[in-house]
Amino acid sequence: MRGPSLLVVGAGINGLWTAWRFLRAGWDVTLADAGPLPNPAAASWDQHRLIHPLGAESEADVHAIERALGGWAELWSRLGHSHYRQTGGLLGNRMEARSIFLGAAGWPCQRVGSASLAALVPGLRRHPEGGGLWTPRAGVLLADRIVTDMVRLIEGLGCRLLPNRPILEEEIREGRFRLGPGEAFAPDLTIVAAGAGTGEVIRMLAPRLTGVDQTMFYFSAPRAWERAPLLVDFGPHDDLWAAPPVAGTMLKLAASDLAVPGGPFDSDALSERIAETFRTIEWRFVRQARCRYARTADGARILEPVRGTDQRAWVVAGCNGGGFKLAPLVAELVWQHARGQVEALA
Ligand SMILES: Cc1cc2nc3c(=O)[nH]c(=O)nc-3n(C[C@H](O)[C@H](O)[C@H](O)COP(=O)(O)OP(=O)(O)OC[C@H]3O[C@@H](n4cnc5c(N)ncnc54)[C@H](O)[C@@H]3O)c2cc1C
Repeated sequence: MRGPSLLVVGAGINGLWTAWRFLRAGWDVTLADAGPLPNPAAASWDQHRLIHPLGAESEADVHAIERALGGWAELWSRLGHSHYRQTGGLLGNRMEARSIFLGAAGWPCQRVGSASLAALVPGLRRHPEGGGLWTPRAGVLLADRIVTDMVRLIEGLGCRLLPNRPILEEEIREGRFRLGPGEAFAPDLTIVAAGAGTGEVIRMLAPRLTGVDQTMFYFSAPRAWERAPLLVDFGPHDDLWAAPPVAGTMLKLAASDLAVPGGPFDSDALSERIAETFRTIEWRFVRQARCRYARTADGARILEPVRGTDQRAWVVAGCNGGGFKLAPLVAELVWQHARGQVEALA
């Protein structure tokens, strides 16, 4: 017998993890996306996403990364291969506070001086005095490979996939979705995980969400970069971040300070910051890409029932510029909050 039914709206990393979580509990799951599956237009689609605790604002944030790594390990074990590459990580700013949180959580890390920094980062030209904070336990999640494998995984577990099927707010409120001529679907529960598109699906949430565009540059770089750590808050402006070119990916850089909500992107400023920080003579620029995530004013994620749906529809949004790595935890939260209430209503 099939279990209760779930519709997940959005096949980014949060929708995929949520679908997998409910499938494992025996639910009958359908996943719809406005685009193809996998969807290269989603924020979750890129060669890699960083996972590290170097941006932690509390000891609890560090523990969250620990638990997220545990969640990802479960996925690798299910897939039979890992899409995580441990590169180590280097923070270039705000070391004092971060080392307190990391130390309190028992996360391995050490302060490194300018000489060690130069040994860790190939072709370093300029970085402020004071060195950095290094941890061996940081790395990259090979995001597009994960998304591709998760679509296959959930399909193999019986998930019904609906590509190119934008879901409308009216359908969510009604709790009924047309599948084809004469065929309708009324799931027990709907989870909206529409990323930066959430304000268009649940219009009431639009004022609480801000879309942030970020442009990344991709380079082919000397092989020494394959052994480099990921970089966070780096360079003379303290705002560069970089993912090293592991597992056949390219070196990727962006500057968080240049991500102006809704504003135009200043490519020249990013080029200048990179050239100020690194000797780039042997680098070859390959391409740039722009990507959007959504955040709330206070940075807190939204996980709540959609008003007027009697708790039969929930939305998860505002997952921020660090939201890929935490998807295993988000799926668990959705599972704990949403399914309980819906099962109680049944
Ligand atoms: C440049 C950049 C760098 C980042 N770096 C990191 C990082 O290093 N580490 C990290 O952890 N995170 C990082 N993030 C954040 C992370 O990528 C996002 O938080 C995460 O991918 C969001 O996943 P999601 O599933 O919520 O949304 P998305 O991946 O955007 O997926 C949402 C999906 O919903 C679909 N959708 C929208 N509307 C509808 C509708 N009406 N009907 C059906 N489907 C719909 C969309 O087509 C899309 O496929 C970065 C983000 C950006 C932009």
